[in-house]
Amino acid sequence: MIKTNYISFSYKEFEKTEELNPDDRELVFSARETALNAYAPYSNFKVGAAVRLNSGTIVRGTNVENAAFPSGICAERSALSNSVSNHHNDKPVAIAIAAMTEDGLAEDPVPPCGNCRQVIAEEELRIGNQIRIILSGKNKTIVIDSVSSLLPLQFNKKNLRVNLP
Ligand SMILES: [Zn+2]
Repeated sequence: MIKTNYISFSYKEFEKTEELNPDDRELVFSARETALNAYAPYSNFKVGAAVRLNSGTIVRGTNVENAAFPSGICAERSALSNSVSNHHNDKPVAIAIAAMTEDGLAEDPVPPCGNCRQVIAEEELRIGNQIRIILSGKNKTIVIDSVSSLLPLQFNKKNLRVNLP
């Protein structure tokens, strides 16, 4: 018997950052600000990510490119590595992402790449909570409740072995 399943998800779209709640707006501006610190001499595509922790602390990261291209890292994984390393037990509740081109803030929200979706999914599993994803562009901001919307049928530790902690 063949069964067809449909996957759908909803997200909120905001035309102006003023429409976001104050915490999310602060996180968006933090991501935009930190994007300016990116090391992106090859792509000139500067990305900033700001992670809000449960305590309210904001931890930031940028993309860091490398002449050996695969050695570079995205802003999202940079920020999450920072939060896991320095605030291990302070759980992330949201991550804002913003990208800058030569023309300034990207017009449309830039979503996380597949690698980063996978890493955000693992972090949700590690902390046992969803992490809201806030994608901010010049024209609009998108808020998604969990990476599982962006990465359905995700591969995770349950696929490796059944009884992992
Ligand atoms: Zn990425």
